[in-house]
Amino acid sequence: MPTSIRCRCGQVQGEADLDNAYTRATCYCKDCRANARWLGTPGLLDAQGGSDIVAMAPAGVRFASGQDRLACMSLSGKGILRWYAACCRTPLGNTGRSANLPYVGVLTACFAGAPEEIDAAVGPRDRITLNPGSAEERVRKTPLGFATGGLRILTNMVVRRLRGEGAGPYFDASTGQPIRAPEVLTAAQRESLGANQPSHPSR
Ligand SMILES: [Zn+2]
Ligand SMILES: [Zn+2]
Repeated sequence: MPTSIRCRCGQVQGEADLDNAYTRATCYCKDCRANARWLGTPGLLDAQGGSDIVAMAPAGVRFASGQDRLACMSLSGKGILRWYAACCRTPLGNTGRSANLPYVGVLTACFAGAPEEIDAAVGPRDRITLNPGSAEERVRKTPLGFATGGLRILTNMVVRRLRGEGAGPYFDASTGQPIRAPEVLTAAQRESLGANQPSHPSR
């Protein structure tokens, strides 16, 4: 099911086909929280400091306008790429550093569709919690979190990779490079944002 992607100010527009979703999870890791703080955009975190993310195949993401507004940052020289709209600092998806990795974690904050539509396509939020130990307040652990979240993501990624899919519109198909060079934060910036460094767990 396609749903609209829209940055807060409307310059970036596109579509995410949620038939390509791997799973939906709320991530409480310190790095996702650091990203939300760095963006400074309200409404990205729940009361416990979690980010609502749809993990999906990047082949399902398409930007129709405002691609030139896309930018990305990384918490470290080897960290994942956290894409956002430079115009209004709306997050637009977290990818790996390789054009061959068929993974993007899209914060639902950039979905313009009705919440019920998103729920119907990918399930309700908070059903799966990732890194609950890093939450700002106690959150429910999902005992099958790895099986229903992590393992599902990994197996789907393998299948997509075998089909020859990669990191989609975030990378240049001919050069294999991200379409923007990431801004890498300094150690001081990471510390002030409360990031967990040097490396983020694979997500
Ligand atoms: Zn914008
Ligand atoms: Zn995270």
